[in-house]
Amino acid sequence: TYTRSTMSEPVSLTLPNGQTVQVPTGLFINNEFHPSSSNETFPILNPATGEHLLDFHAATEEDVDKAVAAARKAFKTVWGRNVAATERARLLNNLADLMESDPLLPLLESVNGGKGVRIAREADLADSVACLRYYAGLADKPNGSTIGAFGTEKFIYTVQDPIGVCGQIIPWNYPLLMWAWKIGPAIAAGCTVVMKPSELTPLSATYACKLIKEAGFPPGVINTVNGTGAVTGNAIASHMDIDKVAFTGSVVTGRRISVAAAQSNLKKVTLELGGKSPSLVFNSANVDEAAEWLALGIWFNSGQDCCAGSRLYVQSGIYDKVIEALVKKAKQSAIGNPADEATSFGPLISAAQRDKVLGYIEGAKKEGAKIATGGKPWAESKGFYVEPTIIQDVNSDMTCVKEEIFGPVISVGKFETEEEALELANNTSYGLAAAVFTSDAKQSMRVAHALEAGTVWVNSYALLHVQAPFGGYKMSGIGRELGVEGLAAYQQTKSVHHSLDQTM
Ligand code: NAD
Repeated sequence: TYTRSTMSEPVSLTLPNGQTVQVPTGLFINNEFHPSSSNETFPILNPATGEHLLDFHAATEEDVDKAVAAARKAFKTVWGRNVAATERARLLNNLADLMESDPLLPLLESVNGGKGVRIAREADLADSVACLRYYAGLADKPNGSTIGAFGTEKFIYTVQDPIGVCGQIIPWNYPLLMWAWKIGPAIAAGCTVVMKPSELTPLSATYACKLIKEAGFPPGVINTVNGTGAVTGNAIASHMDIDKVAFTGSVVTGRRISVAAAQSNLKKVTLELGGKSPSLVFNSANVDEAAEWLALGIWFNSGQDCCAGSRLYVQSGIYDKVIEALVKKAKQSAIGNPADEATSFGPLISAAQRDKVLGYIEGAKKEGAKIATGGKPWAESKGFYVEPTIIQDVNSDMTCVKEEIFGPVISVGKFETEEEALELANNTSYGLAAAVFTSDAKQSMRVAHALEAGTVWVNSYALLHVQAPFGGYKMSGIGRELGVEGLAAYQQTKSVHHSLDQTM
C-alpha cells in the first residue's frame, strides 16, 4: 500500500500565458496519485526556452508491480469479462467529453511538447478525442462469429476475449495522441492498462489521469507509471503478469522490448516504429500542390513524425521547379513561440535531439550534398529549434538518406524512370509510409501498389484517418493501430465447439 505523496500534490505550474495551474505529477495507480517508492523524481523542460518546468515521480520496478497488480485485480473483478461492452463505451465517451471541454490539455501539450498551441488543440487534442469516440463506438459492435451448425448435435462459434493486462509504452512526439491510440482500443476491448508515457513528455497524459477518474472508470482499469525506459519501460516489457505490450517508438527500443517480452512470459507484442518515408514526384504532377503536401509531410510537428516524408525523389523534368517551390514553402513556415496561436513550427523536443539533427546536416555536407535552405538552429530563440531544412542532390549512400533523422530535414534526389523511382523508394529497411504525386491515374495506382509501405498517399501527405489501419511494413513495425484492426490487436479469439450430444 501507498502513503500519499510527501510532495504537495497537485503541483503549481506557470504557463507561458502567465496562468498558474495545478497539475498532478505522481504515479496514477488505482485511481489515486502516489509518490515513487524510491521518492525519485525526474525533470521536464519547456523545449521552446530550455527552462525547467516540473519534476515528475519516477516509477521503480516495485511501483510497476503495484500498477500491474491493480490492473490484474480490476481485470478479474470489474473489467475484462465482468463489464458490459456498452459500459466500456459509455466511460470512453465520458472521457472524450471531459478531454474535449478541458481548456488546459492543449496548453499542457504545447508547453511540454513544443507544438503550437493551436495545433495542440485543433489536431492533437481533437484527434485524440475522435479516436476515443471511434473506439467507444466499436466496443459494443458484433464481436465473434458463428462458424456453423454441424447436424443437430454441434455448433461452433467464436468469441473475442480481451487479451488482459496491457503495458503501453509511448514516445514524445504526440504525447496525447499516442496515448489515445493506445487507451481507446485497449479499453474498448475490455483490457486493463499500465501506461508509460515518455519521460520527456509526461505532462498531458498524467493530467488526463484526473479525467479518467472523473469519467467514472473503476480503480485499476487505467494506471500510469512515469519514468525512464531503462527502468520503468523495461519493468513493463519484462513483467511476468502483463499479457501484452504495445509500443510506439524507435526500432532500437522496439527490438529491446521484443527481446524482453520473449525472455519473460512471451507476452504478445505490437510495435509501431520509425520510418524513412519516400515521396515520388513525377513530371505530370502539379508542382505547387505537391509542394504544399510535401511541406506538410516533412515540417508538420517540426519533422518529429514517424511518417515524415524525409526522402523526396523528383523526376528530372521538374526537379529544379519542385526544389524552388519547396524552398518557398520552407521560408513561409510559421516558426515561432508555441504559445502563439499563429505558430505551427516549434522547437525539437530536446537539446540532444537538436544536436543529433544538426549532426546529420553537417554529415550530409561532408558527403557532398547541398543545403538548399535552412540547416541551422533558429537564431531567434534559446529553445531547441532547427530551421526547416532541404538537402538536395543526395545519393543512396548518404547517411541522411539511409537513417531516420526525426527532425525538419528533407533529402531530395532525382530519377528518370518509374522503375528507378520505385527502386529508390523501396531501398530501405523501413516501410511505414510513402507518397506518389502524378496526374496519370494509372501510374498512381501502379506505383501506390508497388510501394512497400503500410500507408500510401496519392497526391497528398500526412493525413491519417481513425478508420484506416496504420502500421509498418518491414522494420517499421508489427501489427496495426486504428480501424477495426486496432481493436483486434487487443483481442484474442476463442473457438467454442458446443456439443449438445455427449456421445462421441
Ligand atoms: P524511444 O524508443 O527512445 O522511446 C519510446 C518510449 O520507449 C519511451 O517511453 C521510452 O521511455 C521507452 N523506452 C526506452 N527504452 C526502453 C526499454 N529498454 N524498455 C522499455 N521501454 C523503453 O523513442 P522516442 O525517441 O521517444 O520516439 C521517437 C521514435 O518513435 C522514432 O523512431 C519514431 O519514428 C518513432 N515513432 C513511431 C510512431 C509510429 O506510429 N510508428 C509514432 C511516433 C513515433
